[in-house]
Amino acid sequence: MKHILMIGTGGTIASGVTAEGLAPELTTEQLLHEVPGIAKICRVDCRQLFTIDSTNMTPKHWIKLANTIREEYANYDGFVITHGTDTMAYTAAALSYLIQNSEKPIVLTGAQKPIGFETTDSRVNMTDAFLCATRNMPGVQIVFNGKVIIGTRACKTHSKSFQAFSSINFPYLAVMQDGRLLRYISHAPTEFVRFYDRLNERVGVLKLIPGMQTDVLDYLLEKNDAVIIESFGVGGLPSYDYADFYACIRRHTAKGKLVIMTTQVSNEGSDLAVYHVGHRLKSETGVLEAYDMTTEAVVAKVMWILAQTKDFDQIRRLFYTPVAFDLLYN
Ligand code: ASP
Repeated sequence: MKHILMIGTGGTIASGVTAEGLAPELTTEQLLHEVPGIAKICRVDCRQLFTIDSTNMTPKHWIKLANTIREEYANYDGFVITHGTDTMAYTAAALSYLIQNSEKPIVLTGAQKPIGFETTDSRVNMTDAFLCATRNMPGVQIVFNGKVIIGTRACKTHSKSFQAFSSINFPYLAVMQDGRLLRYISHAPTEFVRFYDRLNERVGVLKLIPGMQTDVLDYLLEKNDAVIIESFGVGGLPSYDYADFYACIRRHTAKGKLVIMTTQVSNEGSDLAVYHVGHRLKSETGVLEAYDMTTEAVVAKVMWILAQTKDFDQIRRLFYTPVAFDLLYN
């Protein structure tokens, strides 16, 4: 029987009803006790790392998760992390960069309704997560509502439905049907597992709105080492008489700040070359472009890259080097 480490972090799945709303309180052992069928799938050890709403997750928690998996990597066949859904896609992306080429499954799951509720997605999600963790499904993934999504491609797209996550610009790895795993994509790491333990948290995101001034971008670039701009459509920057975004970016990139352009449209990604408002941007200001990567993945990738180097050529090379299928465009 496979031996799986279950790591609890909190979230709705582990929440109880309090006078001030749902709050995580159940331990991993208590969650496991609610789904006795898992004992027939594998042998499980439990580790409670945090008991928090995932709204309170920070990059420090991601590093603690990655370090725990690193310490226990040799002792288990796979890992199941129960986690709040709100920032699960960010954690999945971060773990995809902090733990690369894992041949063992590292599965995140959670639920939209607590395990103690009469109608809940908790039990099926947990069962599916353990089933995946015992199969040949390498690397970081989210298992939720019968879908298996690679860690760099997940996005929370529904705030209430059980179908909370979508796989953006990439197919599901697999689906679960009546306890069977139907695999769409088989992949296997070609190198040995590699762990990282540092992230640079000085990364900001700016969502453009029509008529925006440059002062917000100016402030974000002062405060951070990198800013990801979620632009419109395939991408571009506004220039009207009272706001020169090009000049603002040039001023900061000259001082070594990094700017990455992405899109606020959820599907199909950016292509700055298409329109006049975008096509000079890369050559004139030195920005990078996210193409088909999700914002969650870009945030985590940039934090991972900037913890390793300040050299722009290196940054650019690492940014455009695909990790765990985060980038298809080349
Ligand atoms: N607020 C909760 C969390 O992210 C939502 C959930 O788990 O579904 O921890």
